[in-house]
Amino acid sequence: MTLLDKVLNHNNKFVRPGAFPPLPKDPKRQLAIFTCMDTRLVDFLEPAMGIKRGDAKVIKNAGNTLVDPNGGVIRSLVAAVFLLGVEEIFVIGHKDCGMASVDVEMLKQKMVERGVDPAAIEALDPDLGQWVGAFSCPEENVERVTSIIRKSPLIPKDVPVHGLIFCPNDGHLEVVVSGY
Ligand code: ZN
Repeated sequence: MTLLDKVLNHNNKFVRPGAFPPLPKDPKRQLAIFTCMDTRLVDFLEPAMGIKRGDAKVIKNAGNTLVDPNGGVIRSLVAAVFLLGVEEIFVIGHKDCGMASVDVEMLKQKMVERGVDPAAIEALDPDLGQWVGAFSCPEENVERVTSIIRKSPLIPKDVPVHGLIFCPNDGHLEVVVSGY
């Protein structure tokens, strides 16, 4: 059975008419979370914050990194603030983040081995390491990303932008930057 089959089989059992009351699109708690795609955060970060289905907008990428100041992350935050009622932004990095130990040469080698044209890698701007969002310290990355969002001319100044670090093992949250 393929992975897709397994997912669809589970989904057939999951869907029950009337089991899930409809929720509004606007988040109940008026907050947006920008965090890492790390699998340990799935179904763990939100409960650790007291957030349930319908409460928050959640944006994820590798390492909660922000490479393009007008790219997808800012675009999603603009939509969250101006279209969907978000009033505060939480940038949440985590300890032991895989993006803090990226071996760029090894990444490049793996990509080429799997058939990616080296010219496509060379053509990346900024270079592969910066483009993929590699960093050395999760706390520093959270400070940097929080600062970029805070300074973005597209995000209103009355929206607090907080920076936090999450522990993927015990669920502890630590404030790095308070947006108030
Ligand atoms: Zn991570």
